Amino acid sequence: MSGRKSAFPMVPMHDAIATILREASALAAAVQNERVPLAQSVGRTIAHDIKAPGNLPPFRASVMDGYAVVSADGPGDYPMVAKALAGSGASVDAKLLPGQLAYITTGAPVPDGADAVVKIEDTEELPEDACGGVRVHICVRGEVKPGTAVRAVGSDIAEGEVVLRAGQLVGASEVGLLASVGSATAPVLRRPRVAVMSTGDELVDPSAPELGPAQIRDSNRAMLLAMAAECGCEVLDLGIVTDQERLLEETMARAVASADVVITSGGVSMGNRDLVKPLLAKLGTIHFGRLCMKPGKPTTFATLEGAEDKKVLFFALPGNPVSAFVTFHLCVVPALRRLRGMAPESCTYPTLPAVIKAPMRLDSVRPEYHRVLASVDPLTTTPSILAVSTGKQTSCRLLSARAANGLIYVPKGTGILEAGSVQELTLFGELLPPAE
Ligand code: AMP
Ligand code: MG
Repeated sequence: MSGRKSAFPMVPMHDAIATILREASALAAAVQNERVPLAQSVGRTIAHDIKAPGNLPPFRASVMDGYAVVSADGPGDYPMVAKALAGSGASVDAKLLPGQLAYITTGAPVPDGADAVVKIEDTEELPEDACGGVRVHICVRGEVKPGTAVRAVGSDIAEGEVVLRAGQLVGASEVGLLASVGSATAPVLRRPRVAVMSTGDELVDPSAPELGPAQIRDSNRAMLLAMAAECGCEVLDLGIVTDQERLLEETMARAVASADVVITSGGVSMGNRDLVKPLLAKLGTIHFGRLCMKPGKPTTFATLEGAEDKKVLFFALPGNPVSAFVTFHLCVVPALRRLRGMAPESCTYPTLPAVIKAPMRLDSVRPEYHRVLASVDPLTTTPSILAVSTGKQTSCRLLSARAANGLIYVPKGTGILEAGSVQELTLFGELLPPAE
């Protein structure tokens, strides 16, 4: 059989991802730090270990509203000699003596001399004594154990303890931790700068009021910019570039000069206006020029020299919107996560077994990543995930990516995967409760 062949072998996904992570790791080491206010730190990566400058709680704090007691006293009636309220400490500086107790609220410092707190529910206020003094009955069954309902100094966070590690992603609980150790700002890694452009003579901006003959709207740029932003990156929109070599080369050079990662879509197939691959070969090093998978075979990954001799990662994704969507998830996300400081083993999405609801056809040449909506199967007693196809899987039909949260790996072969069989799911979105 004769025919025109691509100069690039079809690289297995596993090798492609290893190559991407290797190149991204070389760049990740040089990512700079910056300090941002706490409110802006969500979604960022902690740049270095953060230690607590002091103990939390800084004083012995009550866990309950009740009475601070000397535990050895046990159940019985005792005079109340002081009040310790959260925020204001004890009303007397003197030590609590055996046979005395102090009213205390949650979060208040336990007075010296006291070693336990009895919760209010286990007490009774008695009639005033002759001098108007308050007496309280402690009605705990058995003994009061030392330390009951008292948070020891440093029991939540000890002075010098590492509260956040370098590489940790900041979410709401991390913001709370930073605040609790007195950090009003967070040291975080600079966000990767990602430039996105679309290539193709047929493309028009989505804002264009009408389409000319043979024109289509550029859906990839908006989608890829949104995906990069979702990944916590700073994005740079370089617009649509027509299939002209000089213009393309100029825009690619501009992108490489101002970004850590460049993403193009279109222009990497076998047509005579597919100019991106030859330009990448001219301007840098192509690490792979085809992938053994579907959708997204022509995906190309290169490194180019950017500003200050720094390497830039260049992903030339196929033009078909679904191919661009799937290859972004599988190839670009690991690179962006690595540049955000995540450990290599955390850069790819988790894979887990899932039951497919309907049969899936095998492709005899390439494995396929079938878009699905995965949810927790309510019909089984053991935890099980059900994957429902998003419908026709053609690579130009972006509706097959709508609401998808995962990809079922369909190995190459003949025939079908049976409905109800367990297959590998790559989960890129949130695992949902079952749809109604
Ligand atoms: P290409 O990879 O340039 O050969 O394009 C493959 C297919 O994807 C063609 O049908 C293009 O019209 C379409 N395509 C390319 N770029 C985009 C884009 N940015 N938005 C929507 N469709 C596109
Ligand atoms: Mg094109």
